[in-house]
Amino acid sequence: MADLNKEIEKRRTFAIISHPDAGKTTLTEKFLLYGGAINLAGSVKGKATAKHAVSDWMDIEKERGISVTSSVLQFNYDNYCINILDTPGHQDFSEDTYRTLMAADSAVMVIDASKGVEAQTRKLFKVCVMRNIPIFTFINKMDRDARDTFELLDDIEKELGISTCPINWPIGSGKEFKGVYDRNTKCITTFSDTQRGTKEGAALEISIDDSNLTNLIGESFVNTLNDEIELLDGASAEFDIELVSQGKLSPVFFGSALTNFGVEIFLKHFLKMTSSPLPRKSNIGEISPFREDFSAFVFKIQANMNKAHRDRIAFMRICSGKFDAGMEVTHIQGQNKKLRLSQPQQLMAQERKIVEEAYAGDIIGVFDPGIFSIGDTLCSGSEKFEFEGIPTFAPEHFARVRQVDTMKRKQFVKGINQIAQEGAIQIFQEYNTGMEEIIVGVVGVLQFEVLKYRLENEYNVEIRMENLPYEHIRWIENKEVDLDKLVGTSDMRKIKDLKGNPLLLFVNSWSIGMTLDRNKGLKLSEFGR
Ligand code: GDP
Repeated sequence: MADLNKEIEKRRTFAIISHPDAGKTTLTEKFLLYGGAINLAGSVKGKATAKHAVSDWMDIEKERGISVTSSVLQFNYDNYCINILDTPGHQDFSEDTYRTLMAADSAVMVIDASKGVEAQTRKLFKVCVMRNIPIFTFINKMDRDARDTFELLDDIEKELGISTCPINWPIGSGKEFKGVYDRNTKCITTFSDTQRGTKEGAALEISIDDSNLTNLIGESFVNTLNDEIELLDGASAEFDIELVSQGKLSPVFFGSALTNFGVEIFLKHFLKMTSSPLPRKSNIGEISPFREDFSAFVFKIQANMNKAHRDRIAFMRICSGKFDAGMEVTHIQGQNKKLRLSQPQQLMAQERKIVEEAYAGDIIGVFDPGIFSIGDTLCSGSEKFEFEGIPTFAPEHFARVRQVDTMKRKQFVKGINQIAQEGAIQIFQEYNTGMEEIIVGVVGVLQFEVLKYRLENEYNVEIRMENLPYEHIRWIENKEVDLDKLVGTSDMRKIKDLKGNPLLLFVNSWSIGMTLDRNKGLKLSEFGR
């Protein structure tokens, strides 16, 4: 029992989120370097070397330079066992990011200092705020000309509606980047390019009151720093760990992942400020991570990670107790069926390995023969319960999809169903017809491209897509409504989901109100069940 608690207490599980190219991969590489997981940073995702990466497995990701899928890495550092959850770097995949955030206890947001919060990431970052978990900000690329620091912070506060509290403060940027000032210790760590990738740098720590400081960084920088600190102390929110834990205040750090400056400073502070695995809500109340019985929920299903094997992996977050390979668990949403999780695995830096044991806070991937759905609970022990579900986002783009070669109907249906089960797309049918017409709904348009690509590459089915003008979807809450008698608007369309539940699509949001007016008693919902 004591051992179990010790193992769980040293766990830190966080998601890392950024705009493409802000430096998420580089930062992750440096983290791993500190953890001793790899000898030389740069081998996580060698873009130039075309080495197969852990976090990008689809050609489409390479072509577009974005990561579409997310993966998990584990490493040890300073007596902590750290799980990093990678997220796709494009807002079209914000639903996927949200699910990943459900498995995390905190999030690290990487921002490019020369750009601030970018349009493409706004929605993605907002999803982070929605989840109400602590958000830590790492402002990267200080070795390049950066935007004004106050402006950057203002940007985050305005765009995301969250207060910021700089833990350290940058001195200059670009060629004139001199280092960072720690507001708590009142010491400056001077910047030195640490040979891009090795752990040790010739960083020097010096007090702001040290008379040598002027020689080291120059008088004008010392003056600017003093002015800015004065301004900052008067204007910025005070550090309050309670507000941080509620996701209302984001501690901010500055650095340069590429030159490995400020990374360890960040890591050290971050690990102290984040908590070990937190309790999770269930239908029998909160489940403590220290509860002896194992429990977990599925937050992601990913097919064909390994082309040679055509496997499907269900990723689950362990919420309590300890997992032992070969243990029997109950699959709650699978009619309480008892099963053994097969080929449980974890990603350690570059390789996947079979896990023998794992603890609350850890993420494991198990082979999924097609039985799991997102949000499913697994638990051992006699008490059975369900973790709180993961909401589905309402799709905002719709298209009618058909296979080009009618002989390939079977593969088409199989492929599109499997991709829908992974939660990447939602599929619907015309209300009055069978499976001939398939309507696909997505949260972001890029998902259409992924669908097309995957059907061609994994299922060998070419498809034709015809965009539909609808932007709003509503489920009908009251089952007794006779859909044939429903008086809608001219832009309304009746469809059904795979469970046969009726839904309405609208082009305009005002048509929703009009339809409600015309059909007294009708109840519409934005969320499916
Ligand atoms: P990701 O798309 O967020 O994972 O970004 P990457 O880590 O792949 O970085 C994108 C590009 O920015 C790469 O060419 C990196 O070498 C570069 N980069 C990352 N961090 C820094 C940094 O601190 N300074 C500079 N100058 N470049 C960086």
